[in-house]
Amino acid sequence: MTRLGLMGGTFNPPHRGHLHAAQCAREDLRLDRVLFIPTNLPPHKKLPEGSATTAQRCEMVRLLTAGCGWAELSTVEVDRGGASYTVDTLRQLSAPDRELFLILGTDMLLTLDTGWREPEEICRLCTLAAYAREADEDALLAEKKASIEQKYGARICLIRHEPFPVSSTELRGGGDLDRLTTPAVAAYIRSHKLYGR
Ligand code: ATP
Repeated sequence: MTRLGLMGGTFNPPHRGHLHAAQCAREDLRLDRVLFIPTNLPPHKKLPEGSATTAQRCEMVRLLTAGCGWAELSTVEVDRGGASYTVDTLRQLSAPDRELFLILGTDMLLTLDTGWREPEEICRLCTLAAYAREADEDALLAEKKASIEQKYGARICLIRHEPFPVSSTELRGGGDLDRLTTPAVAAYIRSHKLYGR
């Protein structure tokens, strides 16, 4: 059985927080590989003005993961086109010899049962691997874990994760590229003059 982690996001741009969370999940859950899956059109949020294109977001994810043998870009959602629903991605990636782990920050887990398409099916198709994005979120996360387990019979693992406080919003707003993302992504953003750099 391959233990496959899935890290979805808009990655506009990808940063060290994404990589760090995936790395924590990989270590805690002994994952063989983690796929970084940029959304095509995210159902939950509109990409703001001045965003990178889909091709650029994919390229930056490729650069972010290039150094790690265990992480890689998957264009499954971009190739499918249209709005990106996690349930469709899980259906597509399901295979008898694979166990899927959906890696999620608190912000995403909190909306799973209210905003996501077919949450019960999502919980049937994978194990949720959840981590706190901020230091004080543990209680909130534990409470949500219990409620989703009860509601859907979900399998949820809480990942030990020292928060790395950064968001793509911060980077788009002028945050320190050299500290908050990898050198390859920082160089790409500069050379393509993304986000007004
Ligand atoms: P934005 O600021 O544009 O909303 P974001 O930084 O939250 O973006 P996304 O691409 O939307 O990044 O996030 C993809 C996934 O990565 C989500 O599950 C989110 O919770 C998680 N994530 C984002 N930033 C961090 C971080 N600093 N540490 C851990 N996980 C993060």
